[in-house]
Amino acid sequence: MSHYPKSPLMGQMMSQPLLISSIIQHADRYFGRNEIVSRRVEGDLHRYTYSDCHRRARKLANALGALGVGMGERVATLAWNGYRHMEAYYAVSGSGAVLHTINPRLHPELIAYIANHAEDQYLLFDICFLPLVEAVAPLAKTIKGYIALCDPELMPPDSKLPNLLCYEALLEHSPDDYSWPLFDENSASSLCYTSGTTGNPKGALYSHRSTVLHSLASIMPDTMNISGRDAVLPVVPMFHVNAWGLPYAVPITGAKMVFPGPALDGKSVYELFEQEQVTISAGVPTVWLGLLNYMEQNQLKFSSFKRTIIGGSACPPAMMQALRHRYGVEVVHAWGMTEMSPLGTSCCLQTRHLSLPAEQQELLLQKQGHVIYGVDMKIVDDAGEELPWDGETYGNLLVKGPWVIDTYFKNEGGVVLQDGWFATGDVATIDADGYMQITDRSKDVIKSGGEWISSIDLENIVMAHPAVQMAACIGIFHPKWDERPLLVVVRKPGMEVDSAQLIKFFEGKVAKWWTPDDVTFVDALPLGATGKLLKNKLREQFKEYVLPTA
Ligand code: ADP
Repeated sequence: MSHYPKSPLMGQMMSQPLLISSIIQHADRYFGRNEIVSRRVEGDLHRYTYSDCHRRARKLANALGALGVGMGERVATLAWNGYRHMEAYYAVSGSGAVLHTINPRLHPELIAYIANHAEDQYLLFDICFLPLVEAVAPLAKTIKGYIALCDPELMPPDSKLPNLLCYEALLEHSPDDYSWPLFDENSASSLCYTSGTTGNPKGALYSHRSTVLHSLASIMPDTMNISGRDAVLPVVPMFHVNAWGLPYAVPITGAKMVFPGPALDGKSVYELFEQEQVTISAGVPTVWLGLLNYMEQNQLKFSSFKRTIIGGSACPPAMMQALRHRYGVEVVHAWGMTEMSPLGTSCCLQTRHLSLPAEQQELLLQKQGHVIYGVDMKIVDDAGEELPWDGETYGNLLVKGPWVIDTYFKNEGGVVLQDGWFATGDVATIDADGYMQITDRSKDVIKSGGEWISSIDLENIVMAHPAVQMAACIGIFHPKWDERPLLVVVRKPGMEVDSAQLIKFFEGKVAKWWTPDDVTFVDALPLGATGKLLKNKLREQFKEYVLPTA
């Protein structure tokens, strides 16, 4: 949406809209024989090529047209990472409709709220989600039909779903001659809702232009570094900010695509990595815990895996070190959000850092990193004044860029920008080289005696203890200091450690007044629909907790 003045002399290059359909056309034409491998919900492995994907996406585009889905109309999915989901990515957006990926880990009422808000017309779903879809259907006001992503023989014989269609039957009866329409690159392409941990979820409505630009930026060497010699396995689900854009980025390079389907346990992921010789992956920290535990227990190594992008929440340094030193996997720490498509920063070294001692390099790599060209960022105080880039001063992190949200879908929440910048809700430092480090989410910082304590820092420290599987740090009411840190810990199976030992573990690692006042042990921590710690739930759970008096 250009609101900018025109120069008297305009450039004379072709004006081609940046459309998502151009990606699958490119992949078919230049990498048509390269593979997409999927673990299906049916349990087996499915293999086909970019050409097959393109042909079936064209069939689906015809089928959706025949069902009356028009430009700008929303088509929802409830599906794991797999080839049919990928076909929907291209068919829906490529034909001018809008792909709305829904997180199946949400409650049916919340899914219905989102589907109604989005005014979804059709819902495509993996057959394993049938009970969930049946719970949603009576509450859904705009969905005209449900398309089960399966073969005719797997169709449920007596489902109560209105207008239930079979995906494979639809495709079989649709022609594959379809010309992708050309239209304004600023047209909406896909819609993702934020998880709504506070208030109702809000929709981030991406455009073709923002998606293509984000894809180009994400394959760059200091971002995800994807080439035609890679095999990429997105562990991050296609319903979590479009698997961080990988279904768009990977076909641009011609890399092999490997989809894990619903099998995200350590053993299944490890076996798929090895069998398909995966080189690159991406996911939130919690998914790597399962994989690393499985590998440790079975004394396994990777034979092809070389790089993983970890983000979505802070990657504990202990996890980075295990991946790097024990398994030889490079970890790229990245930061972003639904409102940013999602990538904002990634952390890689520059030439000047190569002569630093190894420990200093590791400390740098623990940061969330450098902006990716296209994104700009700054930190400000509560009055909006910009703060210095000294690596110590922390403030509210603001961003802007061509794949950063301007307004939420249907203008929910009104104007969200501050002088053209989007306030991320994160608190961060930026150092002199422009490396950003998240201190906390502003609602998670622990406010003790007027000063702030970073819950992430405390969690990162204790996660390095050999007996700690997972940890979360929250602020607990304190009559004198306002809040003091409480550490909630899950022990590793079969390991023993007590509160005093863990508190001692902080000695010499943080200022004394940052040390948690107490440690409590639980069997599991509450995780949200995208595998992140739900600190609001934890605060609720421990709101009556009384800290020991010193
Ligand atoms: P949700 O609001 O559902 O968690 P997002 O997936 O968009 O939605 O989450 C974005 C937030 O996740 C960021 O604002 C930030 O707080 C957190 N986050 C993402 N990546 C990182 C990271 N590498 N380190 C710390 N926090 C992160």
